[in-house]
Amino acid sequence: MGGFIAKESEKFERFSDWFDNVLLTARIADNRYPVKGFIVYLENGWFVIERVRRRLEELLEEDGHLPMYYPLVATLENFSREAEHIKGFMGEVFAVGKLRTGENEAQQETPLILRPTSETIMYPMFALWISNHSDLPLKVHQSCAVYRYETKATRALYRVREIPWNEAHTAHASRGEAEEQVRKAVEIYRKVLDELGIAYLILRRPDFDKFAGAEYSIAFDAWNPDGKVNQVATVHNLGTNFSRVFGIVFEKREGGKEYAWQLCYGFGYSRVLAAVIAQHGDDLGPIFPPWVAPIQIVVVPIPYKGREAEVYEYAKRVYGLLRPGFRVRLDDREDVTPGEKYYYWERRGVPLRVEVGPRDVEKSAVVLARRDTGEKFSVPIEMLREEVAKVLEDIARSLSERSKRRLSEQIVDAPSLEEGARNVELGKICRVSWCGSEECALSLKSSLGAEVRGYRYDVDEKSDRPCIVCGSPGKTYLYVSRAY
Ligand SMILES: [Zn+2]
Repeated sequence: MGGFIAKESEKFERFSDWFDNVLLTARIADNRYPVKGFIVYLENGWFVIERVRRRLEELLEEDGHLPMYYPLVATLENFSREAEHIKGFMGEVFAVGKLRTGENEAQQETPLILRPTSETIMYPMFALWISNHSDLPLKVHQSCAVYRYETKATRALYRVREIPWNEAHTAHASRGEAEEQVRKAVEIYRKVLDELGIAYLILRRPDFDKFAGAEYSIAFDAWNPDGKVNQVATVHNLGTNFSRVFGIVFEKREGGKEYAWQLCYGFGYSRVLAAVIAQHGDDLGPIFPPWVAPIQIVVVPIPYKGREAEVYEYAKRVYGLLRPGFRVRLDDREDVTPGEKYYYWERRGVPLRVEVGPRDVEKSAVVLARRDTGEKFSVPIEMLREEVAKVLEDIARSLSERSKRRLSEQIVDAPSLEEGARNVELGKICRVSWCGSEECALSLKSSLGAEVRGYRYDVDEKSDRPCIVCGSPGKTYLYVSRAY
């Protein structure tokens, strides 16, 4: 069998069909659950999420975040305390209460709110714990699900009503310390996303699109084959907006009282999983970066008439050599042809295949076949473990490089509104010169028929062109595209 050239046309031409098909075939998720916006995570999808969760939590805890778990429900009263916050979220909250079972049942109690995010659940507790500068900084995190009554069309993993994520919340003694934590949070998220080979832009959102109750918001927008960017993580500087309404006050070192400076940041597990599938996948299905792959290596014996026993025996030996340290599967099903097995595991995203046939037995070698490039090459068995480790590393690197290339191809400079609108239509992320006025940014939204995602946070991009809207001197560049 010759190697194939990985083709990835399907996901660009018919993204929804391709994605839905991959979710089921690769055992990632099943979106046929009979409640709109709720899905079942299958073994492979949940495996990836669990790996990512552990890595993220490890990094957060190294940075001093304490793992905690807070209740799912908030009182309507607490939820309503921060004016901007409730304005931003009121349209999408789930409310719960006791099910009424009879006509004579007492008056219905005030419903509780299912957390759409946990500020209003955590901060009343912060107010109890924080009274002195020595109580700060306080950094906590939890992995949980949040609930948002999504009214637009839902899409598995991208736009769902039950969202598995990690949220971190911090309180600091000064604006400066809070700012420093913004940078640390960005670095932590960047690290996890980079390890997954996901390509993204870190953008500071325009003020009209910041998190409800925040001073400013920073977001990670990952590219998607259909041209709609996928916001996978956000970091919000809350200033003292919440500490004022929840009474989070501390005694300063030098005397006097001050409101705590707060941040919150969230990392969406399902959207990150979607980005892994959408950015790395090809016509056959997903290609999992090795460190999160449910199965990293599959060993496929290629039996030859009369020499079956020998080949199976050898395959078992190869499997035994790889088992410590790698997630490996031996596919020794006898009623399935090797070609069918290749296809089966390729469609499940296994990054590396080891083939063993009679010639390999004779040569004391194996053939390695890469899922990402289709390349095949022979490796002596005494070098097996080192070679496999090297190839897996190389697969991770090349997935990441390919994805970064794709992102840079997807970004285009639009010198005029007409050209911008045309590029949005083609699924591009448009970079446009901007004078800095909110009015111009807002008008871009309607004239380009897309979302204004913001300007670069990690790169200081100075514009030397006129603002695309008003023509006055540009300050920086705004990124505009369709979005999930
Ligand atoms: Zn302007």
